[in-house]
Amino acid sequence: MEEKHLLLTGMVIAYVGVVYLFSRIGDKREIGKRRLFWISLFLTPVLGFAFFISSQHKKLVMYTEKRYKCEDCGYVFSEKMDFCPFCEKEGKHNPLKEVDMFMT
Ligand SMILES: [Zn+2]
Repeated sequence: MEEKHLLLTGMVIAYVGVVYLFSRIGDKREIGKRRLFWISLFLTPVLGFAFFISSQHKKLVMYTEKRYKCEDCGYVFSEKMDFCPFCEKEGKHNPLKEVDMFMT
């Protein structure tokens, strides 16, 4: 009985140690060391690794781009223009507003 208890404690300590070492890879990633540690501790490092991969992936894919939006018709242009060409056809001079768009 004593031995079993000792073995279990040892396993828990080893597990936390492994999770701790593993969580250090999240240091330079978006997910962060601490968050990766808790995810890995409660949901096993296998799931933690999945979170790590997706956080890395997210950083590669997500970026912002400058776009120019007409607030009247709602159309978004990729080039900077003085007035919205669609509204200009209707005789309205609507200046375009600079916006940051999330690209995926
Ligand atoms: Zn417009």
